[in-house]
Amino acid sequence: MTAIQELFAFDAATSALDQVMGRLHWDQETMMPEGAADQRAHEVAALEELLHTRRQDARIGDWLEAAEPRDETDAARLRLLRRDYLRAVRVPADLAAELARTASRGHGIWAKARAADDPAPFLPVLGHMLQLKRDMAQAIDPEADPYDVLIEDYEPGLTGAEIAELFDGMRPRLRALRDAVLGHEGKAPALAGRFTPEAQLALTREVARRFGYDFDRGRIDLAVHPFSSGSGSDVRITTRIDEADPFGCLYSTIHEVGHAAYEQHVSDALALTRLGQGVSMGVHESQSRIFENQLGRSRAFCGWLHGEMVRAFDLTAPADADAFYAAVNRVEPGSIRTESDEVQYNLHIMLRFDLERAMIRGELDVADIEEAWNARFEADFGHRVDRASNGMLQDVHWSAGLFGYFPTYSLGNVYAGCLHAALRADLPDLDDHLAQGDPSPATEWLADRVQRHGSVPEPRAVIEQATGAPVSEAPLLDYLEAKFGALYGL
Ligand code: ZN
Repeated sequence: MTAIQELFAFDAATSALDQVMGRLHWDQETMMPEGAADQRAHEVAALEELLHTRRQDARIGDWLEAAEPRDETDAARLRLLRRDYLRAVRVPADLAAELARTASRGHGIWAKARAADDPAPFLPVLGHMLQLKRDMAQAIDPEADPYDVLIEDYEPGLTGAEIAELFDGMRPRLRALRDAVLGHEGKAPALAGRFTPEAQLALTREVARRFGYDFDRGRIDLAVHPFSSGSGSDVRITTRIDEADPFGCLYSTIHEVGHAAYEQHVSDALALTRLGQGVSMGVHESQSRIFENQLGRSRAFCGWLHGEMVRAFDLTAPADADAFYAAVNRVEPGSIRTESDEVQYNLHIMLRFDLERAMIRGELDVADIEEAWNARFEADFGHRVDRASNGMLQDVHWSAGLFGYFPTYSLGNVYAGCLHAALRADLPDLDDHLAQGDPSPATEWLADRVQRHGSVPEPRAVIEQATGAPVSEAPLLDYLEAKFGALYGL
């Protein structure tokens, strides 16, 4: 075998083992008996050690040196394998181990601090984690801005400065829209009725099918947190049911179906290779957001969904489709990111992005985070944070050392805005289909323009090739102002 053949065979086996690891995680969240937890921890640790050894196997370096790409796809695969390999070998083993230990310890301390509404016990472990991540960035690339190095794990090819410029351009219009919507007199109607778990699941499965989820190569199960897991021909999603609020189950499922569609539609030729998965967190999130928001929360689709909900449930309110559409898109003041709406969500993300970037660059001390968070929150949201669990302690990410992850949520929204504008221009009668409960023209457009390419093009290139235009925040902001301006009569 030539060097490139050996390297690709090795990559295929590593990719298969990665899928096995994902399946173990899925099982742990859905099916695993409680008494199996200790044994599972050993199973996962053994597999993780094997994967860790493979990622920094010295033969990869030799193969990469000798490998001759035959085409663009080979070149893309070599580029990603080289990037992974360099990141794996440059981080010393003791630093990697200390990062894993601190993340595990940090999670427990964070959960207790959040329950007690007291950041103080969490600050030392957060400070330690920040130092470890700075050390990691330094080991990978001593010349680069440390936050830029960390972003590469989630959204390769973008720098903190580029993201800051994009976000700074969005903030004034988002603040203004938020003020106008919440300053409006009328209150959007709420949902009322009886929503049995069986009926919720049945309707949710039907909606997933209509959004193109392939049940032959996937399944939906219940879990505490909704997620999507796996690539290629085994992509599973989870959902959760709240008897008082069927939107949780429905819309989290549409969101996860967006993630799953990306993985299910990657070209078969890329399956079980480094290229056979979504290219970045931001592009992944763009697929889930466009499914959930631009399609699932559109007036046309809501008209169909209202009819289905009247049939499926004992729905007492809202009585008509317009009021139902307003209920689906209700905007209310709040402090929690995960409960936020399309208008306020990105303001939550930008706050976290600016604070974590300053922390990693040593410009903001852990002792000052709570004050910085609360001051910024009041400026962006117009009301004060009442307690730390509604403020800096609400998200798990920092305890796990996931610095650089937050901005990908808003990048996903920006990309979704670009894709939505382009697909609407290509599909002038899309609303007629959505009104029949049929998003397939849009989901097929996304499968063809974005999803089938897997990780072959770089993240921003995927969006720019699909839309034929540079990435810009303008389409998202135009869409939000038009949609909520009409909903709230602004
Ligand atoms: Zn998501």
